[in-house]
Amino acid sequence: MMSSIETSVQNLSRDYPEWKPWLTVVEAVLKEATDPEWERFVPEPAREQEKSPLLARAEISIEVDWGRGWVKRLMRSAYKCGTSKMATLKPVVSSSLDIPVLFQASLCLHGDRLQTIAIDLGVDPYAFRAVAELIAVPFLQACDRRWTSTASERWAEGYCPVCGAWPAFAELRGIERSRYLRCARCGGEWRSHVLHCPYCGMNDHSQLVSLVPEEGSRTRAIEACRRCLGYVKSLTTLQATPPALIMVEDLASVDLDVAAADGGYRRLEGSGYSLDVNVSDRKGPRQRFFPWRNGSVP
Ligand SMILES: [Zn+2]
Ligand SMILES: [Zn+2]
Repeated sequence: MMSSIETSVQNLSRDYPEWKPWLTVVEAVLKEATDPEWERFVPEPAREQEKSPLLARAEISIEVDWGRGWVKRLMRSAYKCGTSKMATLKPVVSSSLDIPVLFQASLCLHGDRLQTIAIDLGVDPYAFRAVAELIAVPFLQACDRRWTSTASERWAEGYCPVCGAWPAFAELRGIERSRYLRCARCGGEWRSHVLHCPYCGMNDHSQLVSLVPEEGSRTRAIEACRRCLGYVKSLTTLQATPPALIMVEDLASVDLDVAAADGGYRRLEGSGYSLDVNVSDRKGPRQRFFPWRNGSVP
């Protein structure tokens, strides 16, 4: 997997050299997501209602030292990547960060909260938000790996059954062209009807249009909804895209996003469901056995 991440990122930065700084950050996230150690923090899945993703209202405990190590590695890759806005993130690495608060905001895609944290730290709020939204990705991909068999076959919502994010694209898979929606954050997948808008649920075919930007292409299209003006990219594949490569495939099909925007359609960003998770500090082994290590000897 490591080599396929590297190859895919290299191919993309050859096609879009101006994206190289951001791809450095994406590569750091995708490599981190392959670390099975993240699975230690996956809670029991709890689906309270038929329409709740498995992570909704989950109680998550993260070892703060572990989380801080990851946040610093990620921020280091961002401030060194070569753009002036990302370079402002350098002080984050030496700041005292509230790791549970940061993880919670990243998991729930609370962009305003992340921007407020950035302003308190004195760094560029937009650069910080873009990078900090990726903090939760290795944890989310660990959840998807552990919960693959739990995600319901009957899931009928437009957002991800694991993390509640909107889909990155749809796959028309195999010779039977079964339609699956794919999540770029957790790597999840869920079946969906061919004529169905994931955002507003529209299934009247007179309101759904398929735009094919390349003359004669039968493998790539934009499925758009006239009611909510949302769209989903549709890619024909033989097999499922590996979870670690969904973010890369999403970037690689940017020409479809541009064509959809030219047609007046928009893509919903962020989350389709308010996760409302609680993230707390799990005491690591050192803190458990030596709770007085910060100075107050009992
Ligand atoms: Zn997801
Ligand atoms: Zn719609």
